[in-house]
Amino acid sequence: MSDEFKNSRALFARARQLIPGGVNSPVRAFKSVGADPVFIQSGEGATLTDVDGNRYIDYVGSWGPLIHGHKDAATRAAIDTALDHGWTFGAPTDNEVRLAQLICEFMPSIQLVRMVNSGTEATMSVIRLARAATGRDRIIKFAGCYHGHHDSLLVSAGSGLATLGTPSSPGVTAGTVNDTIVCKFNDIEDARAAFDTHGSHIAAVIVEPVAGNMGVVPPAAGFLEELRRLCDDHGALLIFDEVMTGFRVSRGGAQERFGVTPDLTTLGKIIGGGMPVGAYGGRADLMEQIAPAGPVYQAGTLSGNPVAMAAGIATLTQLQDRSAFATLESLGERLELGIQNALASLDVAHTTARVGSMFTLFFSADPIQNFDDALKCDTDKFASCFRSLLSRGIYLPASQFESWFISLAHTPAMIDATVEAVAEALTGTPHNS
Ligand code: PMP
Repeated sequence: MSDEFKNSRALFARARQLIPGGVNSPVRAFKSVGADPVFIQSGEGATLTDVDGNRYIDYVGSWGPLIHGHKDAATRAAIDTALDHGWTFGAPTDNEVRLAQLICEFMPSIQLVRMVNSGTEATMSVIRLARAATGRDRIIKFAGCYHGHHDSLLVSAGSGLATLGTPSSPGVTAGTVNDTIVCKFNDIEDARAAFDTHGSHIAAVIVEPVAGNMGVVPPAAGFLEELRRLCDDHGALLIFDEVMTGFRVSRGGAQERFGVTPDLTTLGKIIGGGMPVGAYGGRADLMEQIAPAGPVYQAGTLSGNPVAMAAGIATLTQLQDRSAFATLESLGERLELGIQNALASLDVAHTTARVGSMFTLFFSADPIQNFDDALKCDTDKFASCFRSLLSRGIYLPASQFESWFISLAHTPAMIDATVEAVAEALTGTPHNS
């Protein structure tokens, strides 16, 4: 790396001696793009500044929460006010009620909602609830969908159709993954086969209704509807993991955009306005089973933290007006069409996928429908494009298998500059020419 990243390199060297791999979450290490991470000094709107003073247009947005951009003024004001009152009590506060009200209004399938501290906690807890409510053990998930890092979902596909999964990390026991069945995303016949084989044992299907963790993969026509039907036919629950899509792909999330109603939903990211928050909610008869209303235990010292609740309320309140989503849609379309046009004449195998303000440029000529398709992408090409864009002041997620996030702080001019930079990065035009 050249001198433009001197301070980041020095920090990373120290960090590696103190923190595993130098980072507190793996993708931040830039490992899959063959670079060292840049350490961030500050963010403002849709831009980041690193510790060497380099500025970037940011398409990570803290991996989704920052729908209004960095340091959004209304969110900042709400956090300041909350801090004035004290930042944790371990007792109920009115902000918890206000945020719950907003969530239930925006997503009518959620009649009761419980706050936790991360998306991982939300999916872990919702699966316990699904098992308790159905009296069954098995869960169906889809290859390439990510639901956090707890044991029962850290599972890869087995060797054949509708087989049980295998642990995708050392330390996850075979016993745990025995209860998780991994199917192919967008392949309803695979899910049907799993129900045919294991139907009476299946507690729930958990799915990212728009996959964002293999790059953006929209649901195929009818896929979500058929999952709903399969669950109903077999007495299983349908769980939408909307940690990423909730309040992003439309005000009511993917369930509103695609018109399919799950029994239970997991949330995170946007509902905390950038503070650490997750939530799960859904049908009242199911959620009433959570302690202390019911017997299914789940708790948290910092759950419903007043500062996080305030940030979430400020973030969601600004999304009351649906015009925000029209703006995000048009910015997303501008980016996608711009990149498609710019790359049309280049000899670079690529395809794009987008749902609203979630976008991925895949380096594959074929459409991406599932994880197997995503794995065929030219990840070396992505890595070189990523590094080239970083030096041109564009900060992308450091993996082919992630979504770019557009915020309301992005401007059409920023999008156009990004399109130009992508074209230059792929033609190898020097960035200062
Ligand atoms: N579900 C989905 C769909 C996610 O994208 C993520 C994280 N990116 C999680 C769950 C886990 O959330 P967290 O990182 O807050 O634990």
